[in-house]
Amino acid sequence: MTFDEVGLSEELLKAVTAAGYSEPTPIQAQAIPSVLSMRDVTGIAQTGTGKTAAFVLPMIDRLAQGRSKARMPRSLVIAPTRELAAQVAENFEKYGVNHKLTMALLIGGVSFGDQDKLLMQGVDVLIATPGRLIDQFERGKLLLTGVEMLVIDEADRMLDMGFIPDIEKICKLLPPRRQTLLFSATMPPEIARLAAQFQTDPKRIEVSRPAQTADTITQYKIPLKSSDHKARRTAIRRVIESRDVTNGIVFCNRKSEVDIVAKSLTKHGHDAAPIHGDLPQAYRTQTLDKFRNGELKLLVASDVAARGLDIPAVGHVFNYSPPPNSDDYVHRIGRTGRAGRTGESFTLVCPEDEKLWDAVVKRVEKSVEDYMPEGLAEELEALPSDGGRSSRSRGRRNDRNDRSDRSERPARSERSERSEKSASRESSKDKEKKQSRGNKSRGDSELLPPAPAGPVVGLGDHVPAFLQRPI
Ligand code: AMP
Repeated sequence: MTFDEVGLSEELLKAVTAAGYSEPTPIQAQAIPSVLSMRDVTGIAQTGTGKTAAFVLPMIDRLAQGRSKARMPRSLVIAPTRELAAQVAENFEKYGVNHKLTMALLIGGVSFGDQDKLLMQGVDVLIATPGRLIDQFERGKLLLTGVEMLVIDEADRMLDMGFIPDIEKICKLLPPRRQTLLFSATMPPEIARLAAQFQTDPKRIEVSRPAQTADTITQYKIPLKSSDHKARRTAIRRVIESRDVTNGIVFCNRKSEVDIVAKSLTKHGHDAAPIHGDLPQAYRTQTLDKFRNGELKLLVASDVAARGLDIPAVGHVFNYSPPPNSDDYVHRIGRTGRAGRTGESFTLVCPEDEKLWDAVVKRVEKSVEDYMPEGLAEELEALPSDGGRSSRSRGRRNDRNDRSDRSERPARSERSERSEKSASRESSKDKEKKQSRGNKSRGDSELLPPAPAGPVVGLGDHVPAFLQRPI
């Protein structure tokens, strides 16, 4: 099928050609005609399949007729993270060059003032993360009764991050007669229920996911005898130094690890910067831009922060430890070896990680060679132990204190929702205040005293809901 056959307007076809695409991807070929005919669509597709254009292109054509009114967006795209929301916005800009659609991006970390102004002028497309959208609604800056089209993007990520109650709340604020498009990489029962509740006779489109790792990626395991952090940091450094790395991503399982590893690499002269959900938006955007432009060599990232980001041509992927979910491993190493290029991935595996690693090997159905840079084994032998604080035991300690780490991991907890929501809700003043008390709740392992060993006195684990409500 060619783009000419999917039913898009001449102006859009021109924009698609200008973007350099000649053929629709399978999800585009199937979704675009359905969206144009105003049907609800459930798209089971991962990032990398071209799913963003699958909804952005027909939305532009559908919105080309009609006008927006003040505070009443005509369409709404909800994405789980700020980066993904920004990426959708970029797609609207790219494909909408020949249209005069107005757009606003409602994400945490951007001043309310600018967003208010845009909303007041009226927008055709509103792209938002759930927390900020609800904030703006509750501030009376937004009426959702004019929304003709709703897109829920990366629905399973929303579930992982605890956003489903927010999505339900938002859906109930929209007019019942509207078109709803839902995209998700997987279809767990909670998402199927959400689709059943808010969609009418949707067309179900499933495109095969990149289930296996590309043959262009050579995968290595770095077997470690010890699980202490110093050993891991030394190993990751030596592995990086042993290869000719132009640009690479170092994946960590926790936000606190992302910070520590980035700091350690920088200290040892590497050009590295962290990216995770607790960092200010401006910094995250700047870091990603630098990485994309080739001005930054190593991006140290958490899975959620990196998921779905369109970063082309990464030569190397390094896993500080195997991810808890073997699907994430496929996503991680899928950052390299794209479009026929070759790539290499390296995973540190200590004895504690063996179970996770077994799951990974089973998932990728390939044997993964061991790799040990010259001299590393001896260097690790000579290292003093860090007091037996393995990544896991330290992680457990963090988990007691570090709710935001959980929000990054697919923990499916409401707490994570609160942490993301409150992150997006806070004004800069709040932020300052929070920072002083925040180290406690963020639980940055390096800043916190160890958690008390005995039972918690007072409210203990049960904190009444009204005390948890954001101020
Ligand atoms: P997505 O799945 O939306 O994250 O898209 C992944 C990548 O595919 C992006 O870099 C898009 O620019 C690219 N892309 C989208 N549509 C097409 C197409 N029809 N042909 C080739 N590449 C595309």
